[in-house]
Amino acid sequence: MDGDPITFRALLEEDEAEHRAPCTRCGQLIDRRELVEIFHHRLPEHQPLPAH
Ligand SMILES: [Zn+2]
Repeated sequence: MDGDPITFRALLEEDEAEHRAPCTRCGQLIDRRELVEIFHHRLPEHQPLPAH
């Protein structure tokens, strides 16, 4: 593999951030690839999910 491993890691983190958005209700970051998280945060009354 060529390329700087630090740069490569930064790219991965950027990609990860692209898939996450803060919940408008509880402020927790939602992974938009995780349906379970999406549906949980759509509930009118909910608590932030426990950290992974
Ligand atoms: Zn939420």
